[in-house]
Amino acid sequence: MPTVEEKTAALVSDLQRFSIHDGPGIRTTVFFKGCTLRCQWCQNPETLKFENELVFSSERCIACGDCAKNCPNHAIKFDHGPHIEFSVCKNCFTCADACPSRALEPAGKEYGAEALATELLKDREFYQPEGGVTLSGGEPFSQAKFLLELLPILKREKIHITAETCGHFNYEAVLPSLKMVDLILFDLKALNPDLHQRLTGKDNELILKNLRRILDLKIPHQIRMPLIPGLNDQESELKGIAEFLKSLGEPELWLLPYHRLGESKLKKLNTEMKPLGLKSYSEKDLRSKAGIVAACGITARTFNFSVPPSTF
Ligand code: SF4
Ligand code: SF4
Repeated sequence: MPTVEEKTAALVSDLQRFSIHDGPGIRTTVFFKGCTLRCQWCQNPETLKFENELVFSSERCIACGDCAKNCPNHAIKFDHGPHIEFSVCKNCFTCADACPSRALEPAGKEYGAEALATELLKDREFYQPEGGVTLSGGEPFSQAKFLLELLPILKREKIHITAETCGHFNYEAVLPSLKMVDLILFDLKALNPDLHQRLTGKDNELILKNLRRILDLKIPHQIRMPLIPGLNDQESELKGIAEFLKSLGEPELWLLPYHRLGESKLKKLNTEMKPLGLKSYSEKDLRSKAGIVAACGITARTFNFSVPPSTF
């Protein structure tokens, strides 16, 4: 069984066109499937697994029963309304083909590099003057071999390439792709390794090492921190990250405040992740968090999905 890195096709959970939150200008964002971290607040839980999986959107279901009739594994039951017994589901997607209302769908669609590039180039007139393509996910650098085929096509076409990364990747495999990326959006979840392990399932040794390596390559970048109330926003953690950035000669940190947009997706998936249900930050709380970073001499920029960025 080949690993994801050995494939020349990639699973993509979504192509989001006209995106204005994933780098400069108007962009098309590619959400690759597969990530080695398990951040408790993940906004795109359908991208976490490397393998394809069934998504059940019960609100679209018209209870026709066609899925159950067609499932070769008798994995769809109607005893308490339609539901999937994921323990016996084999992800064959026969039910998705049978469903007339798209209530059942595979989470990812497989693309070859040329086919994906063709899709992305359809939007090129919207990329001007400063937009382009953003690689996201999931962790796009988990697709090292695929990116070696995709990125040269985009570079040839002079498309600006941004990559959003959690930093947890095999640097040697990813280095040739990194050199083709125009802007890296690098997410730091926590500086304390134990806290990082608790929140994401992995410690941050590799992530911090890869951040240093990216800085050495002098690729334009933004370092960002998702702020999660009560989980990683303690004063000690914010100060720790700010001091760490200072030691690297980095002048600024983008703070991405928690929001609950991804939580409704969890009930559609076979996952043990639970919605955190935390309260969003008020403007005042956010200013206070940004103030802790700013007091350490690091410019804190906050990014709110509904209002323009502010600087502290
Ligand atoms: S994906 Fe296949 S096994 Fe799973 S519920 Fe659908 S038809 Fe049944
Ligand atoms: S085929 Fe689709 S609409 Fe019909 S019962 Fe199954 S999930 Fe619901």
